[in-house]
Amino acid sequence: MEQELRSQLFRKLFPQAPRYRLDQMHTAQFTRGWTGWGDATMFSKEMRDALSHGIPWVSFISSKVLESKKKDTYKALLELFDGKKIETVLMLNRKNNWTICVSSQVGCAMRCGFCATGKMGFTRNMTSDEIVDQYRFWMNFLCEHPKLDQKISNIVFMGMGEPLANYENIKSAIHALLKYAVIGETHITVSTVGVLSVMEKILEDKDWPRVRLAVSLHSADPDIRKNIVPTSFEDFLPKLANWSKRYLKKFGNRSHHLTYEYVMLAGVNDSLVDAKKLANFVTTTGKIKVNLIPYNFTDSEFQKTPDEQTQKFLEYLHKHTVIATTRKTMGEDIAAACGQLIVADKKTKK
Ligand code: SF4
Repeated sequence: MEQELRSQLFRKLFPQAPRYRLDQMHTAQFTRGWTGWGDATMFSKEMRDALSHGIPWVSFISSKVLESKKKDTYKALLELFDGKKIETVLMLNRKNNWTICVSSQVGCAMRCGFCATGKMGFTRNMTSDEIVDQYRFWMNFLCEHPKLDQKISNIVFMGMGEPLANYENIKSAIHALLKYAVIGETHITVSTVGVLSVMEKILEDKDWPRVRLAVSLHSADPDIRKNIVPTSFEDFLPKLANWSKRYLKKFGNRSHHLTYEYVMLAGVNDSLVDAKKLANFVTTTGKIKVNLIPYNFTDSEFQKTPDEQTQKFLEYLHKHTVIATTRKTMGEDIAAACGQLIVADKKTKK
């Protein structure tokens, strides 16, 4: 599967063109430093002119980039053709390469109480082109900033929206990234709040790429989870455990690595009692890594867990044989948590 919209437009423009020409079009778009169809010299002048008039080079019309003080995080607000805005983030990772966090929807219907995007509500799914273009945007950004490390090594689907609620488009975008960007399957992670019906589909879908999955658990107590994640339901946890076991049995290898994400919220899910419930849930489910996420959205009723408490929580998990890490907090000074920049942008325009 490929970037559908551009492929369709290409076929309309050049119905007689052989198949390799379509591949050339996609390859051109992923060529570093090229900023428009005029650069695509593998095509004749007539074809380049037709492409310039018939197929947009990118799927956004404006961009605004913020840089963190440490210069290790950049956040972009991209305006799409219909005027809707989405966010994407470029973060320096542990290997000193870049990880991109991409959005998959404009807004989100999942309404997670701690999330800025959740407060916006859902507007629409993003197309596969719009998803892929976040990668292309950062590729060209790095090209324009030659003093920065140039390698994008990882992509995480953890920006605005619930990726699995836009299944076909994210699948198509991932296939395009695997084919045309220099990114391997084990370097792409799709995060989900736990859309079990689609997670079931992944178990059977032969076309689903061999990427990593991260499930947002946030609590192993059903009442607390329901409070944080309103789409949760009474028997979500046993169903997730059951699904995780089958997933690991079927795909228990490096490429299908499974993680549980756990955002640390002060006084909500961060006590040692919570750690005990989490350890019990994880150890009876399988060998699944837990990633503790420091909370960094300030305009909310939730508070960040103090670092010392996160450390105690982490130590408890380690002591009880849970493989767990804490995510490094980045870009706090540029509202890098998902959806925050759009909220801030709207406020400044009021
Ligand atoms: S955390 Fe993710 S799934 Fe929940 S509201 Fe925010 S974007 Fe949606």
